[in-house]
Amino acid sequence: MLKKKISKLLIGTNNKGKLREIKGLLPKSIKIFSTSDFNLQSPVENGQTFKENSIIKSKYFSKKSNLVCIADDSGLEIDCLDKKPGIFSARWAGSKGDFNKAIKRVYRELNKKDKKWQTKNIKARFVCALSICYLDKIIASVVGKIEGSISSKIRGKNGFGYDPIFIPKKKRQTFGEMTFSSKCKIDHRSIAFKKIKKFL
Ligand code: IMP
Repeated sequence: MLKKKISKLLIGTNNKGKLREIKGLLPKSIKIFSTSDFNLQSPVENGQTFKENSIIKSKYFSKKSNLVCIADDSGLEIDCLDKKPGIFSARWAGSKGDFNKAIKRVYRELNKKDKKWQTKNIKARFVCALSICYLDKIIASVVGKIEGSISSKIRGKNGFGYDPIFIPKKKRQTFGEMTFSSKCKIDHRSIAFKKIKKFL
C-alpha cells in the first residue's frame, strides 16, 4: 500500500523560537499552519517525559484543528542538578516566559550545589521529542539530543531560551553566539527531525 504524503501540517507550538526552527526544517511542498491560525492556547503538559508531553501537544492541537500536527517538547538537562530543569524548562521562566529569570535560577541552583562550579565542566544536554499525530493516532514519535556544557557567563544574543548558556560539545561558542543557521544544523531539534522526516 502506498503511504499517503502529508500535504498540510500544523506546527503545534506557541513558542516563536521553536516555530521558526521547525518551519525551516520542513519540506517546502507541505502547506504549514501554526497555532495562531486557529487561535489555539497550549494544553496542560502533565506528562512525565519529553516524549509524553510532545504526544499530548500533538494530539491536542490535531484534534482542535483536524489537521496532522507535529509538536515538540524540549528542554535542558543539567547532570549535576539531577537533570533539572528538564521537562520544567519553560516553567522556570515563569508565566511571562522570562529567560533571564530561568538562567538566573540555573546559576542559583549551581551555586547551591557547588560554589566552584564555574571552574568545572558542567555537563548538560538539550533534548527534543518530536511527535506527529492525527487526532488520537500517533504517526511517529522520536527523540534527539545534543550534549554540551553550561557556560559560566551569559554569552550571545541570538536564539531563545537557554541558548546563551549552552555550549555544544567540541564548540567554543554558546548557541546564543552562533548564527541561527549554524545552530539549527546541529541542535537537538534537527537531530530529532532527521529521524522523523521519513514520516512526512
Ligand atoms: P516546552 O517544550 O514548550 O515545554 O518548552 C521547552 C523550553 O525549553 C523552551 O521554552 C526553552 O526555554 C527551552 N528550550 C527548548 N529548546 C531550546 C533551544 O533550542 N534553545 C534554548 N532553549 C530551548
